Amino acid sequence: MELSKSKTNCTINYFSNHSKGKKMKSEGINVISFGAGEPDFDTPQYIKDAAIDAINNGLTRYTPASGIIELKEAICDKLRNENGLEYTPSEIVVSNGAKHSIYNALMAICNPGDEVIIPIPYWVSYPELVKLVDAVPVYIETDESNQFKINIDDLKRKITSKTKAIILNSPSNPTGTVYTEEELLKIAEVVVENDLIVISDEIYEKLIYDGYKHISIASLNEDIKQRTIVINGMSKAYAMTGWRIGYTASNREIASLMANIQSHATSNPNTIAQYASVKALKGSQEEIEVMRKEFENRRNFMVERINRISGLTCVNPVGAFYVMVNISSIKGRMFNGKNILTSLDFANLLLEEENVAVIPGDAFGDDNYIRLSFATSLEQIKEGLDRIDTFIQKLK
Ligand code: PLP
Repeated sequence: MELSKSKTNCTINYFSNHSKGKKMKSEGINVISFGAGEPDFDTPQYIKDAAIDAINNGLTRYTPASGIIELKEAICDKLRNENGLEYTPSEIVVSNGAKHSIYNALMAICNPGDEVIIPIPYWVSYPELVKLVDAVPVYIETDESNQFKINIDDLKRKITSKTKAIILNSPSNPTGTVYTEEELLKIAEVVVENDLIVISDEIYEKLIYDGYKHISIASLNEDIKQRTIVINGMSKAYAMTGWRIGYTASNREIASLMANIQSHATSNPNTIAQYASVKALKGSQEEIEVMRKEFENRRNFMVERINRISGLTCVNPVGAFYVMVNISSIKGRMFNGKNILTSLDFANLLLEEENVAVIPGDAFGDDNYIRLSFATSLEQIKEGLDRIDTFIQKLK
C-alpha cells in the first residue's frame, strides 16, 4: 500500500523534547519547560461569558462555512481601526485557527511544484504546510546581526519562474523580529515587481515591546494589499489557543476560493467560539494590555539573565514570546563523556541532567540555537535559567 509521499515526508518529531518534559512532569518530576507555544494566561472572563451565552441562546448550529457575518464585521472593524486596512466581510474567511488559515491560503494559491519562500529561522509548520499542498519550500538564511531580517538582495536571488509566494511573519516565532515600515516597503516592491503573493502571518501582532508598532504589509499601498493574504486570529492575543479561531483578509477572488475549499474540508469553525470571538474583538482590550506588559517584564528579565550566562548570547526579541539563544560556542563541548554536537544533543542533555525542556533550533531551521519561551511564570523562568547556568558550568 503506497501512501501520499508529500504527506508522509512531513516532519512531526521536533517537539519530542517538549513532550518528554511534559511526561516527566506528569510523573512528579520537577521539570521547568521553556517549550510553551501558547500564553500561560487564562482566557479573559468576558470572552468565556460570551461563549456560555451563545450556548444558552441556542447558537449551537452550523454557520456559513467561512464564518458568521457578525464576526467578519468585527474583524473588518479591527483591521480598519488598528491596521488601517479596508476590507469587506466577503474578503474575510474565518477558520479553525491561524494554522488552518495558512493551509487554506496555500491550498488556494499553489499548484504542484510552485515555490514558496520561507525565511530561516521559521515557524515549524511553514515548510510542512507548503509540502502538504505539493509546493516546494525555498529557504532564505538570515543573520542575528541583522535581527534575523531578510536581506533584499537574498530575496531577489531566490526568486525563479516558479516562485509563487513568500511567507512573512512579523512579529516572528521563533525570533521575535518585527519589520519596520521601511523594510516592509522594500519587500513589497520586490513582491509586486515579480507578481508574487505575500502570506503575512500577523498572529503575534499584539505582543510587541519597546514601543515598536506592528505594521501590516497589506496597509502600505493598494498594489501590495491586492497581493497579500493577511493571517491573524484569536489564539495568542486573547489567550484563546484552544478555541481555534483564525482568519484571513485577502482579495475577494482568493477569499472565495479559500471559503469554498473550507466548506468542503471542515465546514464552519466552531460556532460558539465564533460568537465568543465577536465579544473578544469588541470588548475592552485592557486585559490584553495587562498580558502584554507581563510578557514584556519577563522578556526583559530573560534577555538580561541569558546574556550573563557564560557561553550563551541572545538578541533582544521585540515581539512574540520567544528568545532564540545562540549556543554555537557550546557546540563541541562535552558533558559526562558525551559530545554536544547539535542543538538536539544540548536539549536532550539539559533535560536529562537539569530537568529543563527547551526546543532545539533545528526545529526552526537553525541548529546554532535553542528556543526558550517566556509564556511561563517569572518564578519558573528564574529557576530554569539558573539550572541552565549550572548545566553549562558543568561542561568540559
Ligand atoms: N503562526 C505562528 C507563527 C504561530 O506560532 C502559530 C502557533 O504557534 C500559529 C500561526 C497558529 O496559530 P493558531 O493557534 O491560531 O492556529
